[in-house]
Amino acid sequence: MPSHAADPTNPTLWTLTAGPGPELSGRLPSRSDIVVIGGGFTGLTTALHLARAGKSVIVLEAGKLGAGASGMNAGFVVPNFAKADPAAVRQKLPRDKADALLSLVGTGADEVFATITDENISCDAEQVGWLQPAYGEDMARILRQRARDWAELGRPVEFLESNAIRSETGMEIYSGGLIDHSGGAIHPLKYLYGLAGAVLRHGGTIHENSAVESVMRDGSVWRVGLAGHQVETDSVILATNAFTDGIAARMGRTGVPLKVYQVATKPIDAATIERIAPHRRPVGDTRSNLFTYRLDRDNRLISGGMAINPIGAFDRIGRAVVERLASELRLPSHPDVEIVWTGTAIMTPDFLPRLYRFGDGFLGGIGCNGRGIAMTAQLGRILARLALGETAESLPIPLQPSRPLPFHRFTPLVASLALAHARFEDWRTGRQ
Ligand SMILES: Cc1cc2nc3c(=O)[nH]c(=O)nc-3n(C[C@H](O)[C@H](O)[C@H](O)COP(=O)(O)OP(=O)(O)OC[C@H]3O[C@@H](n4cnc5c(N)ncnc54)[C@H](O)[C@@H]3O)c2cc1C
Repeated sequence: MPSHAADPTNPTLWTLTAGPGPELSGRLPSRSDIVVIGGGFTGLTTALHLARAGKSVIVLEAGKLGAGASGMNAGFVVPNFAKADPAAVRQKLPRDKADALLSLVGTGADEVFATITDENISCDAEQVGWLQPAYGEDMARILRQRARDWAELGRPVEFLESNAIRSETGMEIYSGGLIDHSGGAIHPLKYLYGLAGAVLRHGGTIHENSAVESVMRDGSVWRVGLAGHQVETDSVILATNAFTDGIAARMGRTGVPLKVYQVATKPIDAATIERIAPHRRPVGDTRSNLFTYRLDRDNRLISGGMAINPIGAFDRIGRAVVERLASELRLPSHPDVEIVWTGTAIMTPDFLPRLYRFGDGFLGGIGCNGRGIAMTAQLGRILARLALGETAESLPIPLQPSRPLPFHRFTPLVASLALAHARFEDWRTGRQ
């Protein structure tokens, strides 16, 4: 379970390179049209849309901006689902709802980069495309179809044959792969600070160190309670993601928390970059034990991993990720590690996003599934539309009551077992 404060023992590449966040000042008002709980991408995007629409909006953040996954992630902007193909989504939902959801997901990266442009956010944004190389012939067949499905939906997605993937990555193990030209990479904390600055410019307010303890209905209004303070409001948006303390539990317990480790190396040399990322495209392959890499503005390599056994994982995973980068990318030497950090992502059981209704005018959303940068941009826009009075029927994601997962406390164990199984499957595919 993530901790709320910006943890000084868990600095990230982003805290080292972002510069200062926006100036937040002012007293907490006692009334607002809408209160948003949680100052990550979801909360700030929701607040931005509401403030642009002329509503008074307060964002209450328990820790510092960036205390959650929005400050800890790797900055890959990926406009699709981690595990669900367009075909799978169409099997789960009626065709019109499925296509509306696919269009929402598929345009997520465009939405992020458009907000960056519209609000003049300086966050090292590079919309250079996102690559998904296929590991094994079976996966290549799946990706070929997936690329066709996305292209039919009007998305700039194509299948690249194995020689094209080799020139994009320098790697010989792949049987082709998919490129989504709308994807890319950002500096996530600068993006978060930029969103916060935009909320303030449009008239919203943001309060750090403001953990919400209660949300109570009182006649036609809601009363949002913090230590020593109360805010009256017409609507409340819960944007607390994987957190499970107090008020956040009703949403955080609906998914499986995954502790993810991120590693940034010292900057690498120009010749290697030319070989492994000539167009600076971020890469995430199809292996169950995912192999990912991207470059930051200063040409550090960023990659990540998870641990089956959490004990002593911090140092072990740091070393293992560098080991893997060096061997998969055939780097001339082991790059030095600049920094290792960790954060908690949350996966819903079917890998699809959720919109929750906790009461009349009390809503929440989880972008989730490791691809939250693009998804939270869409989720924030939808939550704002709902708070502005749009009916749920017109939405691509159903509004539903939240149901905590049974045995939520044991789900990390299930995740560890799933990871062990995934590594075995990758090993088996590699032998075929
Ligand atoms: C290590 C890691 C790597 C990732 N990499 C990527 C990636 O490369 N690309 C990608 O697209 N996605 C990635 N993700 C996922 C992505 O970061 C998340 O989906 C996204 O940031 C979720 O945003 P959010 O605003 O919903 O939640 P968060 O950013 O977690 O924000 C929730 C906020 O709520 C606050 N809060 C909690 N309880 C309260 C309370 N009671 N009162 C007030 N505030 C409260 C928290 O302090 C926190 O700031 C990654 C996630 C992790 C952990």
